[in-house]
Amino acid sequence: MKQYFRFKEQHPDCVLLFRMGDFYELFFEDAETVAGPLGLTLTQRTGGVPLAGVPHHQLDNYLRKLVALGYRVAIADQIQDPKDAKGVVDRAVTQVVTPGTLVDDGLLDGSAVNRLAALHFTEHGDASPASVAVVEASTGDLVLFDASAESLTDELASRRVKEILYAETATGEAPPRVLRVLDALGISGTGRPAWQFRRDEALEAVLTQFDVSTLEGFGLAADDPAVYAAGAVIRYLRETKAVGDEAANNRPGSFAAATLAHLRSPRREHAGGRCVIDSVSLRSLEIEQTIREGAAAGSLVGLFLTSSGGGGCRTAMGKRLVRDWLCRPSGELATIESRHARVAALVEDRRLAREIGETLAPVQDIARIAGRVALGRCSPRDIAGLGQSIGRVRGVAGLLDGTPAFDAQRASLLALAETLEPVAERITRECTDDPPAHLRDGGVFRTGIDPELDEARSLQSDASAWLARYQATVATELGLPGIKVAFNKVFGYYVELSAAQARDAKDKIDAASMTRKQTLKNAERFITPELKTFEEKVLRAEGRALERERELFALLVASVAAALDTLLSYADAIAELDAVLAFADRAAKLGWTRPSITDERVLVIEEGRHPVLEDSLGGGFVPNSVSIGGSVAGLSLITGPNMAGKSTFIRQVALITVLAHAGSFVPAASATIGLCDRVFTRVGADDALHRGQSTFMVEMIETANILNNATPRSLVILDEIGRGTSTLDGLSLAWAIVEALAGDAASPGPRTLFATHYHELTDLEQRHDRRVANLHVAVREWTPAGGESEIVFLHTVKPGRADQSYGVQVARLAGVPRAVTDRARHVLDSLAVQHGPAMETAEANAASERSAPQLSLFTEIAPHPAVDRLREVNLEECSPMIAFDLLRELRGMVETGDAG
Ligand code: ADP
Repeated sequence: MKQYFRFKEQHPDCVLLFRMGDFYELFFEDAETVAGPLGLTLTQRTGGVPLAGVPHHQLDNYLRKLVALGYRVAIADQIQDPKDAKGVVDRAVTQVVTPGTLVDDGLLDGSAVNRLAALHFTEHGDASPASVAVVEASTGDLVLFDASAESLTDELASRRVKEILYAETATGEAPPRVLRVLDALGISGTGRPAWQFRRDEALEAVLTQFDVSTLEGFGLAADDPAVYAAGAVIRYLRETKAVGDEAANNRPGSFAAATLAHLRSPRREHAGGRCVIDSVSLRSLEIEQTIREGAAAGSLVGLFLTSSGGGGCRTAMGKRLVRDWLCRPSGELATIESRHARVAALVEDRRLAREIGETLAPVQDIARIAGRVALGRCSPRDIAGLGQSIGRVRGVAGLLDGTPAFDAQRASLLALAETLEPVAERITRECTDDPPAHLRDGGVFRTGIDPELDEARSLQSDASAWLARYQATVATELGLPGIKVAFNKVFGYYVELSAAQARDAKDKIDAASMTRKQTLKNAERFITPELKTFEEKVLRAEGRALERERELFALLVASVAAALDTLLSYADAIAELDAVLAFADRAAKLGWTRPSITDERVLVIEEGRHPVLEDSLGGGFVPNSVSIGGSVAGLSLITGPNMAGKSTFIRQVALITVLAHAGSFVPAASATIGLCDRVFTRVGADDALHRGQSTFMVEMIETANILNNATPRSLVILDEIGRGTSTLDGLSLAWAIVEALAGDAASPGPRTLFATHYHELTDLEQRHDRRVANLHVAVREWTPAGGESEIVFLHTVKPGRADQSYGVQVARLAGVPRAVTDRARHVLDSLAVQHGPAMETAEANAASERSAPQLSLFTEIAPHPAVDRLREVNLEECSPMIAFDLLRELRGMVETGDAG
């Protein structure tokens, strides 16, 4: 318990898993809080201490659950063989597991990415920018960037940050602006001592980590605040991963020797290099996962994850990169075009694509294995897999020979091969073809590579021959042919006689100095001095062989670790090739085309399709074209009945834009896409996601974000703005929002698609000539003989406004009872009569000034004369008789009014 309390004190914010024999035990409060969620039985230890335990071989499973529940977990292991312990076994916290620092294979899904970020704020005040360091602990990728207060959440979301480090305030709390980010992302934050974010301490951590004396080589200034964040990240990683050095790490001014060897030189990102997709759009465009199931299947990324039936990355590294490219598309013409050129080369040469695919398929997750090598957590299988994977380097380069689009990649692969081939050769030479998962099982190294290991092993293999010989000898000496010499795990080697033989041969047994070891029902087991000596020798040999394998493995891993940088560059190269190949496969399979990317504010798509729907609908998808910006209006209003395909159409345009920026071909006959700085969407997302905010509030927050941040280079997709409030409010807001987004001649607005059911908005086309254009999704109305009118959805987008909303027909299609739709039709007819004059006023008003109040359009229905008459009545002077007459008069007025 002393050990326990010490660890608990060192890691007060962690749930502590304490290894005891075959279990990891939880005590006290830890046991009480997590037993329920983990489904463990809560028991009591002597002294009434609450206790719950998990079997050691299930550790990964429970760790995954704990981290998913948002806990930080410290693992205290036995660091001494219990046999050698005098008294209590030595233990130490060997690992702290947190959501942002997962590295072990069992805890991470191959295609998923978990990143850790540290935030540093140079200035006080909520609107000040943040300097950020983001690391992917499993592969060591480290990126530094700045983010404005508005873009911070989006930046962190698109990078899949799962844990945030921040400098604690003096009272040990999180600053409010950090809390807001954590809340928006729904992830956990970890407070760190503020000194870890200070210039000198951070600089020391970074310089020591990369073993350099200046950061200039990384293109970083010493007083770059993002470096302060990087320092905090490095200290944290060292604390959670290399826990042994914890004491040294946690003192300012001291820093233990670097062990996070896989951490890569920091890359500084500067604004402008990307097409930013904000977190709302990431979710509502279903880029990474579907809204309903939260699954990758059915999302944009999902198209490139599975390779069954063509398309889909071959390696986990490729999957992670495609995810990154689609969530954070490039905003640089050169980068995008270089990817397009490589995709084009592989679309043209399908044989090459197939060969590359076959070569990449067996390649292991080099990036993550490299991470485990650096952290001393790699298994024999990791190393063997690495050997096979890097052995392919020259083969891959060879395939790219003669394809100019890949010249640069080929050259760098050949350069990498110089370092990697010797590593691969050594691994294949030394390791068996199918080594065990754990070093402790032995059999990692081949025979013939190390005399000491061979000798220890030959003793073991000679054992069976010796035993056979010995059995024959004893049988002859004792004159007992049925005698057996054997081995069991508990009692070791023994000579076995049947109970009867043992009785009969008692003298001989004594003469041979055999000692009884075990008595069974029908047999007696003995040990002899020869057998004892032999047993000791065999056990020693076994131990020696294992020990030797351990030494050899450490040497081998060290030689791999020496090539870590090269390994990671190779991992990058493979990931890019794999990602480009997945783009090419999809393009070839579904006839996607290369988009032309320009610097102008245009967006022209001919016969575009929705990339995910065309996949799931098979051949039935109706292509549509669009042109916004450039010489035509930058804002298109799309009307049409519900279910016509408005949302599908606007989402498809956004997805095509994203694909093009990511470097992929697009599902369209042709596309010209001007570079985008941001993609914004406000489409009916899953409103259940928003805790405690009304649908309308969420809609307006998202709209405010768009109005405040969209630039002429942005793409904005809006669906059904104004639904969540009264018709009048909604329409007025939608009207004003369209006007704001349409911009004016002096300052054009973003390229915008605005789907709406407010037909009144289509008037804006005339008022804002050449800046607003109407589109509608066509339906065909037909009336079967003797029946009521029905509609057929054509899903084709055409110029001009929709003439009707066909709501009643759609309701009918949905199965609303006929009695209700009949009544609705009746109500609709009478409302249309009432609103008729108002609509005409609208047309007349259309010519008037833009600032003219529009509300009158929809409200001014003159009050009934009976109302005026009522207002005139002085109730004080009313006798019951007069009141009754008045009632009669009013009734008369209403009736004549109806008749008129
Ligand atoms: P709206 O936004 O106008 O209510 P949606 O975009 O949600 O309509 O489309 C309704 C349904 O119509 C979708 O579920 C889809 O299956 C189908 N659909 C939409 N566009 C197309 C198209 N271009 N080709 C084929 N089916 C389509």
